[in-house]
Amino acid sequence: MQELSHFITGKRVKGTSGRSADVYNPALGEAIAKVPLASKEEVDAAVATAAEAQPAWAAANPQRRARVLMEFVRLLNRDMDKLAEVLSREHGKTLPDARGDLQRGLEVAEFCIGAPHLLKGEYSESAGAGIDLYSMRQPLGVAAGIAPFNFPAMIPMWQFCPAIACGNAFVLKPSERDPSVPLMLAELLQEAGLPDGILQVVNGDKEAVDAILDNPAVLGVGFVGSTPVAQYIYSRGCANGKRMQCFGGAKNHLIVMPDADMDQAADALVGSGYGAAGERCMAISVAVPVGEATADRLIGKLIPRIEQMKIGPYTAGQDIDYGPLVTATAKEKVLGLVESGVGQGATLAVDGRGFALQGYEKGFFVGPHLFDRVTRDMEIYKQEIFGPVLSTLRAQNYEEALGYAMDHEYGNGTAIFTRDGDTARDFAQRVNIGMVGINVPIPVPLAYHTFGGWKKSGFGDLNQHGPDSFRFYTRTKTVTCRWPSGIKEGGEFSIPVME
Ligand code: NAD
Repeated sequence: MQELSHFITGKRVKGTSGRSADVYNPALGEAIAKVPLASKEEVDAAVATAAEAQPAWAAANPQRRARVLMEFVRLLNRDMDKLAEVLSREHGKTLPDARGDLQRGLEVAEFCIGAPHLLKGEYSESAGAGIDLYSMRQPLGVAAGIAPFNFPAMIPMWQFCPAIACGNAFVLKPSERDPSVPLMLAELLQEAGLPDGILQVVNGDKEAVDAILDNPAVLGVGFVGSTPVAQYIYSRGCANGKRMQCFGGAKNHLIVMPDADMDQAADALVGSGYGAAGERCMAISVAVPVGEATADRLIGKLIPRIEQMKIGPYTAGQDIDYGPLVTATAKEKVLGLVESGVGQGATLAVDGRGFALQGYEKGFFVGPHLFDRVTRDMEIYKQEIFGPVLSTLRAQNYEEALGYAMDHEYGNGTAIFTRDGDTARDFAQRVNIGMVGINVPIPVPLAYHTFGGWKKSGFGDLNQHGPDSFRFYTRTKTVTCRWPSGIKEGGEFSIPVME
């Protein structure tokens, strides 16, 4: 079995805590590697060497730092196939989807090549008599990121690319479920010229996370994962005086208006509901058709599409629509929620229970499920399922549909399918959700905009990537400057005011 490591000060380093976790190939249901789980001492040592390396990196001009990222982008493209293969093996997603995971991270690296422009400060000449004022953006020092299993390439890159472009050192704690790709990304950055210690990868679980949150040298932390953990990390980090951004779970509604192109809506729903086996924070998990006739037409179009879907291991090639869930526990949880939906009276229009794949009996595959006539008191509606299960909640009119999306405690993404500009505009304006799609089912903003949910999907003030990430990973310092010629007349005893 492969022994994984940490990546500290430019090289792979074995764990010393004596604790480790199994990493699985979810398609086979077999453990393929062991990942070390860092102790508090190992985390503190990684933070200390990062803090030592950081001032020299911050002193390098931003263009030099950007050039490292430029080379990183080239190397990542060079190794794309190899990285995608490792990503699929540990996560289970299809190869095209693994490439998408890498590509969406890479686009943020490309955005961060603009660091010299993004880090420019502000200047006010003659703000008072002989006084000039300027503001500059300085790195925090050491920042850290804690990542989820479902985008093992994209989310770490969303975190560390802007952080290092701003001149920080960064300590990354990847998910213990699929830690190989983050280690490979750290090696690529080193090959691209990143100085040792500027990106440390520390593998681990809660113990490592708590050590990051309690280390006074870590001044900012980005977290992405489930909501209960996001809330916990946000409070502990804030209590320790750190700058925090924590992104949590989701329950994304897609509203289908009676005038929508029903084939387009059905295609969008199967792709966004079942792609990556539903293990995406921007997956659509609730379809809200408006009107009984719309609902019947939609269900009629969804059923054959869902029944034709191909589920299998990433090794089966391009034909596969989605792969296994990440762990046996995830599979158990999803199937348990399906049972609760049936028990609470929802109509199981497509029943994926009992799905089996010859030769992969031990794999964590779950067949696709479609629920109709779901109501808001049901667990399948209240909870994030994070599996290939789409719920249909019928609404009588637009206001009711909008209310469903607005009343849910999560607020990551949502979408509306309609041909009517007025309804679409009203929806985008009023809905209390961070990312909105109009005839687009997974509205993940591009790298130069920002990504973040509202309500229980996001805690903290600044979003991921885009200009917000440069604000998150820097502090503003403002200098008020007057040169000696201004005090020729002697000391001034009252506060200076603008004349
Ligand atoms: P998770 O919350 O179980 O784990 C995320 C990270 O937190 C991991 O690195 C894990 O080691 C660590 N962690 C887990 N439990 C902890 C604890 N008790 N204390 C401290 N650290 C702990 O999430 P996951 O299962 O890896 O990822 C799936 C979740 O992430 C879903 O809820 C999904 O919606 C969410 N997600 C959100 C976004 C977003 O941008 N909003 C993006 C991707 C995934």
